[in-house]
Amino acid sequence: MASTTSAPELEADALEQLRGDFRGDIVEPADPTYDELRGVFNGMFDRRPRVILRPAGAADVIRGIGLARTSGLPLAIRGGGHSVAGFSSVDDGIVLDLRAMRGIRVDPQRKTVRVQAGLNWGELDRETQAFGLGVTGGRVTTTGIVGFTTGTGSGWLERKFGFAADNVLSADVVTADGEVVTASEDENQELLWGLKGGGGNFGVVTEMEFRLNPLTPIVYGGLAAFPPDKGPEVVRAWRDLSNESDDVGWAVANVTAPPLSFVPEEWHGKHVVAVLGMIAGAHDQAEKVMKPLRALGPVFDLWQPMPYTMVQTLIDPANPYGRQNYWRAHNIDDLDDSVIDTFLEAGASRPSPFTAVIMLNGGGAIGRVGENDTAISGRKSPFNFHLNGMWEDPAATDENIAWVKSISKALAPHISEGISLNFATEIGDDALKESFGAKKVERLRALKDRYDPANVFRMNQNIKPTG
Ligand SMILES: Cc1cc2nc3c(=O)[nH]c(=O)nc-3n(C[C@H](O)[C@H](O)[C@H](O)COP(=O)(O)OP(=O)(O)OC[C@H]3O[C@@H](n4cnc5c(N)ncnc54)[C@H](O)[C@@H]3O)c2cc1C
Repeated sequence: MASTTSAPELEADALEQLRGDFRGDIVEPADPTYDELRGVFNGMFDRRPRVILRPAGAADVIRGIGLARTSGLPLAIRGGGHSVAGFSSVDDGIVLDLRAMRGIRVDPQRKTVRVQAGLNWGELDRETQAFGLGVTGGRVTTTGIVGFTTGTGSGWLERKFGFAADNVLSADVVTADGEVVTASEDENQELLWGLKGGGGNFGVVTEMEFRLNPLTPIVYGGLAAFPPDKGPEVVRAWRDLSNESDDVGWAVANVTAPPLSFVPEEWHGKHVVAVLGMIAGAHDQAEKVMKPLRALGPVFDLWQPMPYTMVQTLIDPANPYGRQNYWRAHNIDDLDDSVIDTFLEAGASRPSPFTAVIMLNGGGAIGRVGENDTAISGRKSPFNFHLNGMWEDPAATDENIAWVKSISKALAPHISEGISLNFATEIGDDALKESFGAKKVERLRALKDRYDPANVFRMNQNIKPTG
């Protein structure tokens, strides 16, 4: 039967052509794997793409981008699927799902790792730790490597090794017109600069190479939880110890104690103030750092020597796929008593038990990289304040979003420039300026004009091209 519009027929032809020239899988709504493959971390984005392309290599990526260009359909790039803004899913468009590209090679002599775009941080950590090496990775193992890194890449090791982005040596990128370019210190240096914080604006990274650092497989890490009435003392101690050494990468967080065996039963389901993360140095030094906190009487305390790969899984169970998520994050320069009050009051007023209100310590190695060496701004900020709104019932969405916004507003006088957009559910032009600063936005726009003038890659923290 003749179609009333020509677009769907054209699209069917284009897909048919692609089938003959695509090594990976092409998944459509009727396929049995479609529903599983379209799912992303943030359940707020329950989208139904027209087709999911699962490239087996760079040649398939070129073909997938070509289909988006010629069809005009919106294109979403999917790695680990962790975008809290829902960037890796799209209604009625094309999802380029990179998860089948799973190659990884550690070079222990050069201390580097070269990884394809489909792996996640748990997988990279496993391989690099086999050689006693590591690089700053996500605090949740299922986070994708390239999305995380191009959006900054903040992790427990950042004060020791810098952001993940600071450790990128090179990247192979397929640009909007299907060209494959390598960005490194030797070629396309400006593109390498933009990939360090500028997100997925410039093309699809098929492989990325990182510098590795010696990292003992056993670090001192864990999680301890305190009663909320000890909150002010806990936060002050955490703040004052946060700069003890570059080895200290940790957080203080308002969370709900889970009903698990290591939690005393009377605390199950209750609000606690937790200190979690790792001290990646000598264990006796780590004990010294922990001592003033331990003196405050934790409800439970799991801090101890443990495998780095285990610390990396600590908060995996609190971050399952499919819940509703609305997140914001801010840099804070001065963690004074009024910020502490806001932090603890936010913890007590969380509308959902799954919501976490977190502060992380910055500084260290990330503050020693030049402000203009990468697209990332706000490197000197000593603390970050994260509002991870998370709930299950979609009917509670308005209440939860309003709550996140109200805490964000209360913090406004303390917020400084430059926060990773990795942690934001809503990203507008103002957020881009807040994150990068106006000068860097213009530098990123020049790169966008060069590599993606038609804005084929727009499901991201979008730098709009000039045209
Ligand atoms: C539970 C959880 C924990 C997190 N923890 C941290 C943390 O500790 N530190 C931190 O910095 N961030 C963290 N994030 C944020 C996370 O790093 C970003 O959301 C990041 O974009 C996720 O990458 P992904 O590949 O998993 O995401 P996806 O949703 O698959 O991709 C997100 C976007 O990244 C870009 N992208 C992904 N792969 C490529 C590629 N190969 N080429 C070009 N562009 C690409 C695209 O624009 C894509 O739309 C966390 C997020 C969640 C949900």
